[in-house]
Amino acid sequence: MSQSRTIAFIGLGIMGLPMAANLVSAGFTVRGYDRSPQQADRLAGKGGTAAATPAEAVSGADVVITMVPDSPDVEEAVFSTGGVFDSAAPGTLVVDMSTVRPDTARAVNEEGAKRGLRVLDAPVSGGEAGAVEGVLSIMVGGDPADFDAAAGVFAPMGSAVLVGPAGAGQTVKAANQLIVAGNIQLVAEALVFLEAHGVETEAGLRVLNGGLAGSTVLTRKAESMRHRRFEPGFRIELHDKDMGIVTAAAREVGVPVPMGALVAQFIGALKAQGHGGLDHSALLKLVDQLAAEQK
Ligand code: NAD
Repeated sequence: MSQSRTIAFIGLGIMGLPMAANLVSAGFTVRGYDRSPQQADRLAGKGGTAAATPAEAVSGADVVITMVPDSPDVEEAVFSTGGVFDSAAPGTLVVDMSTVRPDTARAVNEEGAKRGLRVLDAPVSGGEAGAVEGVLSIMVGGDPADFDAAAGVFAPMGSAVLVGPAGAGQTVKAANQLIVAGNIQLVAEALVFLEAHGVETEAGLRVLNGGLAGSTVLTRKAESMRHRRFEPGFRIELHDKDMGIVTAAAREVGVPVPMGALVAQFIGALKAQGHGGLDHSALLKLVDQLAAEQK
């Protein structure tokens, strides 16, 4: 959709703000709305426009993007009076890039279709750094023609792949969160293991990252984990939400995810300890606690 020049961007947090800023840099007119007005003001500081209401952002836009925390937030942004569906003209592309339940994505798609809107679910992976650098991995569910129409909008934010019909993007994202959670947990265990053996962990983790054990988690998180720095990033409470999606979706189709279920419990425990606001690499905190208990 090369003629699409105006984008309404709803939800300008850790991810949404840099994603919207990249769309501004790519030449789009971006009108941002966030429940917290200072976030919209921050977009204005980067060349976008701050909207005071969702309707102000959405009216007349060619594309609407939502990037909010959870399923109820998407439902509020999209379905509420004065929300996206009330203000978007028929034919508008509505792209939810939040991580939510696949059934939420399907409901938004079906309700949007009734109103003549073209809805895609397009959750992302790559974290805050991927959002800032415009190199997110974007997993898209929906109609192939709508995916093609959105290609120019996805490009400044990262690489998009159509993975199936409505909801499929969220299912792939759930698998992503399963892999990331397990990977962080094992990196945390390896780090504590190396430290206990007196190995120089900077060199140790660097060489590990060059082999089969290598991962984006090691590339992006090893250094901060070594120094026990857990500022988000991706908050534990969001990964807790995502592991709820993973375990529910696995149960729905009768597929056991035993390792995922275990890490989901660790993430839940961290949240219960009051660490929901820390980065998900804080899984290391629990490994530290367990190791200390053994001594
Ligand atoms: P965040 O909490 O930093 O940002 C969310 C923003 O949405 C906040 O500014 C909040 O005020 C706003 N908001 C909430 N409800 C709203 C509504 N109804 N209308 C308008 N604004 C609303 O969260 P984030 O880290 O940017 O994550 C956003 C989504 O992206 C989540 O679904 C998360 O799981 C997913 N995600 C995050 C990361 C990451 O590394 N942070 C990576 C991949 C995916």
